[in-house]
Amino acid sequence: MKSVGQTLRNLVEGIACRKTAPESPLFRAETTRLFALLTVESILALLSLVFAIQDWMAGARAAAVLEVASGIALLLMTPLFRRYLPPDAVDMAELGLIAVLILGITFQVFPLDAMVATLVPLFPLIASLLRWREGWPWTIAFLPLHLLVSLAGVIAARGHIGLFMLTAWSRDIQPITQRAMLYTLAGSYLIYVVVAWLSRVFVVIAEGYALAWQEAALKDPLTGALNRLAFEEIYRDHCIPQEGNPLPRIGLILLDIDDFKGINDQFGHNAGDAVLREMAALLRRSLRITDHLVRWGGEEFLILLPRTNLQGAHELAERLRMKVATHVFPVERKVTASFGVTVLTAGDTPETFVRRADESLYRAKERGKNRVEYLHPEVPISNKALGMTSA
Ligand code: GH3
Ligand code: MG
Ligand code: MG
Repeated sequence: MKSVGQTLRNLVEGIACRKTAPESPLFRAETTRLFALLTVESILALLSLVFAIQDWMAGARAAAVLEVASGIALLLMTPLFRRYLPPDAVDMAELGLIAVLILGITFQVFPLDAMVATLVPLFPLIASLLRWREGWPWTIAFLPLHLLVSLAGVIAARGHIGLFMLTAWSRDIQPITQRAMLYTLAGSYLIYVVVAWLSRVFVVIAEGYALAWQEAALKDPLTGALNRLAFEEIYRDHCIPQEGNPLPRIGLILLDIDDFKGINDQFGHNAGDAVLREMAALLRRSLRITDHLVRWGGEEFLILLPRTNLQGAHELAERLRMKVATHVFPVERKVTASFGVTVLTAGDTPETFVRRADESLYRAKERGKNRVEYLHPEVPISNKALGMTSA
C-alpha cells in the first residue's frame, strides 16, 4: 500500500507542481491527461457510491457491497496501473476498464433493447487499427473481458447461477435481455474506440510540440546551428568515456570570422547576419552528418568531430579555410576565417577542451589570420589564452 500511496502523492504533486515543473508540452499533456482520467474515475466512483446507497436502502445489500468495492477499485486503478504496468498497457487498460464501468452503470440506468450485436466484433478491430501495433494486443485482450462481463450479467439476470453476489444482485436488477447486454457492450466499445483515438491524436500532437520545442531550445535561431546548451549535451554523449572503454577520438575546430566588425561597419548589421547565415550553411554543407556545428559566440563556430584524430581535424580545418576564403558571400568583400584545432585528451572537461581550441585560434589570429593552427593536448595552456577565452 505504501507504493500506492507514494504513487498517489506523486500524481497529486505532479498536477500541483505545474508552475515549478519544466514547461514542456509533453509534461503538460501528460498531467492534463492524468487529471482528466482521475476526474472521470472519481465521478464514476461517486456514482457507484450513489447506486450503492440506493441499493442498500432498497435492501439489496450484496449489490451495494459490489458497487462500493468497484468504486474503490476505480479510485485506485490509475495509481496502481501506473505503478505496475508499462505505459502502453496503462493507457489501454484504463480505457478498457472505463468502458467496462460505463457498461456497468448503463445496465443500472437503462434497461435497453437493440440490435447492434452484429457490429460488436468490429469495434476492437477499429480500435486496434487506430492504435496500430501498440493497441491490438490490449484491444483483443479486452474483447473476452467484455464478453465475460456481459455473459455473467446475462446469466445472473436470469438467475441461472448460484454465486452469492451475482444471485443476490440478479434478484435486485430489472430483467435484462441478451440483446440489451450486447447493445451496451457495443456502446462501451464505441466509447473505448473514440477515447483511444482521441488520446492517440492528443499524444501525437503533444509529442510533435515537445520535439519542436526541444529542437528550438538547442538551436541558434539566426544560423540554425546548435547552441551552447546543445554542446554540453553533445559533450556528455560523445566525450565522456564509458567505463572500461578507451578515450574516444574526438576532434574540435573553433573558427572565428576575420575582421567581422569591419563587415558590420561597412555593410550594416543585416549584411553581417546574412554572412553568418551563409557561413553556417557553407560549413554544414562541408561536414559529415555525424559532425556537430555549434554557434559558439557572435561570429565564432565550434565543430565537434567524432572519430577524428588531430591530423584529420587539421586537414578538415584547412579544407574549410579554403572554402570560406574562396566562397562568394552576400557582401562585396572577401570573407576569411581563422581556425584553431585540437583533440580530446584524458582529463578534459568541456572548458579545457574548448580552451585549447581557443588558444590555437588565438595563435592563428596572431600569426596573420586566415590560417589554421593546432595545439596538441600535451601542450600546456598559456595564460594569454585563458585571458582571451570568450566562454
Ligand atoms: P578578428 O579578426 O580579430 O576576429 O576581428 P573581429 O572584428 O571579427 O572580432 P571582434 O570580436 O572585434 O568583433 C566581432 C563582431 O561581431 C562584434 C559584434 O558586433 C559582431 N557580432 C556579434 N554577434 C553578431 C550577430 O549576431 N550579428 C552581427 N551582424 N554581428 C554580430
Ligand atoms: Mg570573435
Ligand atoms: Mg572575428
